[in-house]
Amino acid sequence: MTTPQEVLKMIQDNNIQMIDLKFIDTPGTWQHLTVFHNQIDESSFTEGVPFDGSSIRGWKAINESDMSMVLDPNTAWIDPFMAEPTLSIICSIQEPRTGEPYNRCPRVIAQKAVDYVVSSGIGDTVFFGPEAEFFIFDDVRFDQTANSGYYYVDSVEGRWNSGREEGPNLGYKPRFKEGYFPVPPTDTFQDIRTEMLLTMAKCGVPIEKQHHEVASGGQCELGFRFGKLIEAADWLMTYKYVIKNVAKKYGKTVTFMPKPIFGDNGSGMHCHQSIWKDGQPLFAGDKYAGLSEMALHYIGGILRHAPALLAITNPTTNSYKRLVPGYEAPVNLAYSQGNRSASIRIPLAGNNPKAKRLEFRCPDATSNPYLAFAAMLCAGLDGIKNKIHPGEPLDKNIYELSPEELAKVPSTPGSLELALEALENDHAFLTEPGVFTEDFIQTWISYKLDNEVNPMRLRPHPYEFGLYYDC
Ligand code: GLN
Ligand code: MG
Ligand code: MG
Ligand code: MG
Repeated sequence: MTTPQEVLKMIQDNNIQMIDLKFIDTPGTWQHLTVFHNQIDESSFTEGVPFDGSSIRGWKAINESDMSMVLDPNTAWIDPFMAEPTLSIICSIQEPRTGEPYNRCPRVIAQKAVDYVVSSGIGDTVFFGPEAEFFIFDDVRFDQTANSGYYYVDSVEGRWNSGREEGPNLGYKPRFKEGYFPVPPTDTFQDIRTEMLLTMAKCGVPIEKQHHEVASGGQCELGFRFGKLIEAADWLMTYKYVIKNVAKKYGKTVTFMPKPIFGDNGSGMHCHQSIWKDGQPLFAGDKYAGLSEMALHYIGGILRHAPALLAITNPTTNSYKRLVPGYEAPVNLAYSQGNRSASIRIPLAGNNPKAKRLEFRCPDATSNPYLAFAAMLCAGLDGIKNKIHPGEPLDKNIYELSPEELAKVPSTPGSLELALEALENDHAFLTEPGVFTEDFIQTWISYKLDNEVNPMRLRPHPYEFGLYYDC
């Protein structure tokens, strides 16, 4: 834990000129305001720094736009991408008049989820470990102004639709779905990934590893240690920020879009999770796969609420192009030890109770991590409170089940629209504990329908030209 006084000393000791205040908007993107160092004092950590919230997506109307950013002293690091000495600090949003936390601030919602675990008496600490995959591209072309909206290159040709300039074939190219994980020169992203990882460490993220992923060109993953719910979400945002900015230095771009390339693996954000109390891991026990009964109920809650939950953990139209069979992405709502085709996997954890956790494999990194972690936790807690048993584990490769067997396993929703519909019909598990407000859920649903689902649905798709142009 860092105190405000320690942050103020850090500003002096490092001759910091500017303080970059970062906060998360509703869809899940960092926004920032940069102030001269003399604008920050101890009150910035309690009353906050005022700003105009009216143009932030999904937030206040212009007639009630005053808001405050409250600095979290635990999140201070020197921003490696800014020319002048600049201290970056992550903030939560507060109502300036009442001093109340702002109900639509995702970091506030995450804090309420953590508070709920404690007040329910179930646990005192929740750990999350997200694994966000991404693609590094040289060049992506899309046209935001054309009649047909956003599209890039040519989606008819499948795997060649990578949006990349291919140039001459210099050999050593990873074959289709074989990016996991030959050494250089086949892997051309070694140095860039190492730079990303080491830069993350400078920003306070406890780094662990980096590797190429399965998709044939430029799909990568970096690993950092699990952390407490809010800390892990802060690290994930730092992860995305560092990765994008290092890529930019190399003249490349990064996308966390779940399915940028048709016919190759997509990018997920598997989320490892566990609850602890008094220093003891509550998910370890003598039930299936070394889990406790509480962990099984948690799984039951996630599986029961999964269709609605996915509207938050897989919140884009593109998310559902990843959740299809054949690409290591989960389609069926089931759990299993080791089986990566189930949406919940229980990693071996080397028989160490402290490492006992479950991995929910559905989420992707287009989600807002504060909302996604809070929502998964609410679903799991609902399972614990109502003793929802998850049914039998599915230890077979789900992709190889017979149609009769498969028919018994529920599957993930086929589109964002369906997930939003599920959320409309099933959100008491989020609102009853007081974590999400009804206002937030309704704002989320209408924001997603108006800005993503409907605009996508209304536009002619490039693939339709291939199908229908010569009808
Ligand atoms: N890319 C896969 C997904 O979409 C996961 C691959 C892996 O990490 N084993 O979830
Ligand atoms: Mg991984
Ligand atoms: Mg992976
Ligand atoms: Mg994983």
